[in-house]
Amino acid sequence: MLFLDVDGVLNRTGFHPDTSVGLRSWIEPDLARRLSEVLRVTGAVVVLASDWRRGRELPQLREELAAAGIDASLIGVTPILAGAARWREIEAWMLEHGVTPEVVAIVDDGYDMGALAARFVRASPLNGLDDTVAAALIALLAPHASSP
Ligand SMILES: [Mg+2]
Repeated sequence: MLFLDVDGVLNRTGFHPDTSVGLRSWIEPDLARRLSEVLRVTGAVVVLASDWRRGRELPQLREELAAAGIDASLIGVTPILAGAARWREIEAWMLEHGVTPEVVAIVDDGYDMGALAARFVRASPLNGLDDTVAAALIALLAPHASSP
């Protein structure tokens, strides 16, 4: 199970689409491909933790990810908890669904994942989900899988 951020992970600092028709426009194709490969190798499902989840329903988010070329099983979005750190929202989702840390990974360009730090792979917003991030996610999500 992968808790996914978008900005700084699926797009890089300075990226700006020619036309913006929604979330799909803000996902860079090569980063989408790399994420799809991580999901293929690990079989991980996705929970969206990004601010892009705000004001959008799950079917719409699924459509946007698919349109961006991401082959993902999007099973949910983290709750929006006023004033809470993102990792608290992730933790709340895990508690609600009875998910233990051992089976999750988090990818984000933020820094603080609190008690979930051991499951966190930080992406630099300059590079997004690069090969190093992909390998670290695969190691967390499928420790016995070979790298793509
Ligand atoms: Mg971000």
